Amino acid sequence: MTDLDTALGGREAYRAPGSGRRASHYRLLSQTLARIHDRIPLPEGSTLLAPPADEREEFFDGACRKRLVIYLLSQGCDWALKKAHGCTMCGHLAKQTRRLSIPQGDHQRQFFSVFDATDWSRYPILNLYNNGSFLNDAEIPAIDRSAILQAIGANPHIRMVVLESRPEFVREEIVRELRDLLPGKHVEIAIGLETIDDHRRAICINKGFTLRQYDRAAAIVTKYLKLRTYVLLKPPFYSEAEAAQDAVATIGHAFAVGSTTVSLEPCTIQAYTLSEYLSACGLYQAPWLWTIIEVVQRTAGLGKLVVGMFQFYPAPTLVPHNCDACNERVLERLRQYNRVLDPAAFEGLSCDCRSAWHDEMARAVTPFAERVIEATQRMNELLDQPQPGSG
Ligand code: SF4
Ligand SMILES: [Zn+2]
Repeated sequence: MTDLDTALGGREAYRAPGSGRRASHYRLLSQTLARIHDRIPLPEGSTLLAPPADEREEFFDGACRKRLVIYLLSQGCDWALKKAHGCTMCGHLAKQTRRLSIPQGDHQRQFFSVFDATDWSRYPILNLYNNGSFLNDAEIPAIDRSAILQAIGANPHIRMVVLESRPEFVREEIVRELRDLLPGKHVEIAIGLETIDDHRRAICINKGFTLRQYDRAAAIVTKYLKLRTYVLLKPPFYSEAEAAQDAVATIGHAFAVGSTTVSLEPCTIQAYTLSEYLSACGLYQAPWLWTIIEVVQRTAGLGKLVVGMFQFYPAPTLVPHNCDACNERVLERLRQYNRVLDPAAFEGLSCDCRSAWHDEMARAVTPFAERVIEATQRMNELLDQPQPGSG
């Protein structure tokens, strides 16, 4: 199977009606992504040092608890390094990852430089991210992964662990190994499904896997551990109304296949991404905070739904927002919702900008195919200009 087949959802989807047009959209976008990634400056810095860890909170086991997010530098997400060039909104390749071969042992050194210096009695939750797939031997050598997991497994303070992976690396033997190395802990394997729609996952996100592949991975994870699913709110090319509708349907599916947690991830603009160039052309805006609230209100009753609060390393250049008069107030209510997981946190919230949001939700949009073609032309015109659009 070629990268193109995979990105389009496998040969079955590739042969489906309309797939010729889908393939040509995919090629146009893939070539544009390649031009954007060519602008990424060469990496620098040591592969022995992890970026600073982040302190956050999460509702777990009946209360809001502190969690520590440890980032490991890796040589890059496999999917982003392949000919398909990775996901359209993902900025990890530009700064977080090194695109260099990282010697065996360096991931352990990075991890223990943070792990050994942390007072774990303060943090019952650990999120360990490598901005790629923790279960992929090509991104984290198995020997390093085992040493890291053994240390976490032996730490009595850590009660919950979150690791991330694309579905193709979720194999029964590795998930069983994780369960055995982390005995008695609440372990969530997080998968970025992003959207329930195979066509749009291929074209708008370039995610490179199908719903069926996600469902298969979900079945393996839930047999031994817990499943966490990321749902992307407003991928590139989506209108505001499409974004809300799609997120609601995707969250429903994620819970239906057994997700313990669903994390709604409002799209941000990160450097050297297709969404950054789309935004620079005036063809994409990060979602309104009102849209986030709308989706939460419609789905929070389905299970543990948390809202990703746009904290990434590296930091995004643009984040979801309403108007200057209410941004801080609404963000605080979203943080409050995450602390208690009760949509009552949004009660009484209003602002004059809600009418502009309603207008945006009702706005007529051009057909999807036309949007993609126009946007690709405009982004390539921008790329033809000598000055890079990223900083
Ligand atoms: S979103 Fe995940 S799978 Fe996609 S390119 Fe980024 S790290 Fe890789
Ligand atoms: Zn407002």
